[in-house]
Amino acid sequence: MDLGLSGRVALVAAASRGLGRATAERLAREGMRVAICARNEELLRRAAEEIQAATGAEVLAVPADVSKPEDVERLVSQTRERFGRLDVLVTNAGGPPPGNFFDFTDGQWEAAFRLTLMSVVRLCRAAIPPMKERKWGRIVHITSVSVKQPLPNLLLSNSLRLAVIGLAKSLAVELAPYNITVNSVCPGPIATERMEQLLQAQAQMQNIPLEEARAAWTREIPLARLGQPQELADAIAFLASENAGFITGAALQVDGGMVKFVL
Ligand code: NAD
Repeated sequence: MDLGLSGRVALVAAASRGLGRATAERLAREGMRVAICARNEELLRRAAEEIQAATGAEVLAVPADVSKPEDVERLVSQTRERFGRLDVLVTNAGGPPPGNFFDFTDGQWEAAFRLTLMSVVRLCRAAIPPMKERKWGRIVHITSVSVKQPLPNLLLSNSLRLAVIGLAKSLAVELAPYNITVNSVCPGPIATERMEQLLQAQAQMQNIPLEEARAAWTREIPLARLGQPQELADAIAFLASENAGFITGAALQVDGGMVKFVL
């Protein structure tokens, strides 16, 4: 299927590895020019070079911390300067730290708020004007299945990601007159470094072997395996495509059937 993305420009936040990285590479394969960011300059540069080598696409790497307003502004303005337009925004950031209610101070709540919610607010604020100018845009937020079913020991994620879904639903209506769609993807367990860290933390906390922790997660998933990053990237590429022009305000699980509710 031709997704109609060739020649367009995407910005994928937090993309030196994991889900962001897979998404940037997937969009580059569609013929998009792609801007990516992460905090570590060296890892980011390497990711950009690898994506470029694998796809032949032009990739702009901008070292930036998405929880800092000045970094987000610089990221978007450098993307526009380099490519002259911005059509697709994929919001993403590292996950907030694991833990339960009494583990967190006000300072940790505020840091998670800046990372998980304000990064999305600021990325949207900066990226929407060029989409409005062209009357075409696609925004996809990477969230988590925790917006549908809270996950154990991930209290900050369970709480703050719901605000991203509320924002996406509201923006979907506000931006519809400009032909800009706003959707969210809700990954279940997907084999990335973040997932590996969560499994190790769980194994340590419960004093069980790592493979037992992995098996416990897998038992929750009807497809009986963890997802692969490119499987989430495929869903994002579709939501970013011309073909998905009538889908907005949706929150799509990519979770191997883990969430069991009907609606
Ligand atoms: P990851 O830790 O493997 O990769 C995170 C990426 O974000 C890295 O490139 C890192 O450099 C970058 N990053 C982190 N903080 C940043 C910041 N402040 N500014 C800029 N870049 C930053 O994580 P992942 O598994 O790819 O997950 C991505 C997001 O999806 C996270 O929020 C995670 O919690 C969420 N998620 C992941 C899964 C999963 O199973 N992998 C499931 C549900 C939700």
